[in-house]
Amino acid sequence: MIISHSDTPANRKILDALVVPFWINGDTVEPATPSNAFTFLAQDVIKAKDFSAKLEETCLLYGQTEGEQRVILLGLGNSKDLHSDYVRRAYASVVKVCRRKKWAKISFLLPSVDETYLKALVEGSLLANYVFDELKRETIINDPTCLLKELHFVGSSKKFISTCKDVRTITDAVCFTRDLVNRNADDITPKSLGSVAKKLVGKHLKVHVLGEKDLEKEKMGLLLAVGKGSCNDSSLIVLEYIPDSSSKDVTAIVGKGITFDTGGLNLKVGVGIETMKCDMAGSASVLGVIKAASDLGIKKNIIGVIAAAENAIGSNSTKPGDVVISHSGKSVEINDTDAEGRLVLADALSYLQKHYSPSRIIDLATLTGGVVIALGEEATGLFSNDDALAHRLIASGDRTFERLWRLPLYAEYREGLKSSIADIKNSGGRKASAAKGAIFLQQFIKNSTPWAHLDIAGTAFLSEPKGYNTTAATGVGVRLLIDFLEML
Ligand SMILES: [Zn+2]
Repeated sequence: MIISHSDTPANRKILDALVVPFWINGDTVEPATPSNAFTFLAQDVIKAKDFSAKLEETCLLYGQTEGEQRVILLGLGNSKDLHSDYVRRAYASVVKVCRRKKWAKISFLLPSVDETYLKALVEGSLLANYVFDELKRETIINDPTCLLKELHFVGSSKKFISTCKDVRTITDAVCFTRDLVNRNADDITPKSLGSVAKKLVGKHLKVHVLGEKDLEKEKMGLLLAVGKGSCNDSSLIVLEYIPDSSSKDVTAIVGKGITFDTGGLNLKVGVGIETMKCDMAGSASVLGVIKAASDLGIKKNIIGVIAAAENAIGSNSTKPGDVVISHSGKSVEINDTDAEGRLVLADALSYLQKHYSPSRIIDLATLTGGVVIALGEEATGLFSNDDALAHRLIASGDRTFERLWRLPLYAEYREGLKSSIADIKNSGGRKASAAKGAIFLQQFIKNSTPWAHLDIAGTAFLSEPKGYNTTAATGVGVRLLIDFLEML
């Protein structure tokens, strides 16, 4: 991908198409660019009411400039209602038009908006320039995918070009995360997640992988119990990104890495099992965040921990009702083998706090169907024992539009996890199931440590394309946590 720029329209590159933004100001449709030089382009279509600059509206014109063969008018909606995510979606819509038409080199006249919106413009364009087609064969020969190869920004400053570079580093990490989630569960196993992590090793970044023998030595009973029925060994992957060794401040990010979730002997029934390769989305986001932080050179210390296992059915599978001793020493009655994410995370959280002293812990997990019922695909469920941490995360969610909605950690939910034969049981039924999942995890957090649990079950994997996301993996969490770390 080439990202180029020119200072004025007169100096622009002539490419496959020129995108000219318009917005609605009162009752008038106006160019959203600093110069009115291209106003004439839209006069006839506006008069004919064929283009009204509604958000994401596009109108294709031919032979209108001396340079480009094609001009695309793009609607940004009402100028008074402008929002970063509207800008992302508008530019995603025009990128999708270009990709369908197989125009790979596009010039964009930049709108007169501030830096935040320009950043969103680049994000929307790059996030929409994604396809997962590595498993297609004949269809790809008959109809090859077109991805944009050059974005040329007209009217940009040198500072904007440096912003573009950073945005691209982040969106590349989002696409890397999406790829990991979208691949076959047989290709993305606990072992291969470890190999992916090791490939990230670089300046300030070390990776250790604990195999099953190490997990036995560490007495990580819950993580081992979840993977017992699988021929793929479980593992704990630890990434240490320490660019500032003079600082003791460390953010720990912990990801659920269930590379396929059958539900175990509490086998999943009905629809839904076919998308369960997405149950490692939390771990993919941890890898994406650390990749982006390292590529950007963010000077914030991060410990990433991934609890990786396959929840499969086999003669050795953990039986519902069995009691297992966790890494922390608590005994856990596994009354539902499909509530396995909290088991592997509990051991990962406990291991993390034994070996490190994180200043804050954030875990990401496709944890519950309950959060999907509550919030759908529009927001990630946030649970936290620390108001300041929750507020920072919510602010990052608003800026990146990876929105978070805080749900309660009422002590009363703990009642539902009482076991008659163990210290705690792992499932408390359907009522408030998202909160009970979070309350279970909280039992493995030291009281003094600020902690936030992000239940991404609804936001990590979409049932249909939306805005700048395609169907399936979204890479949620990467832009959110990079923003969080940058603002820390
Ligand atoms: Zn499950």
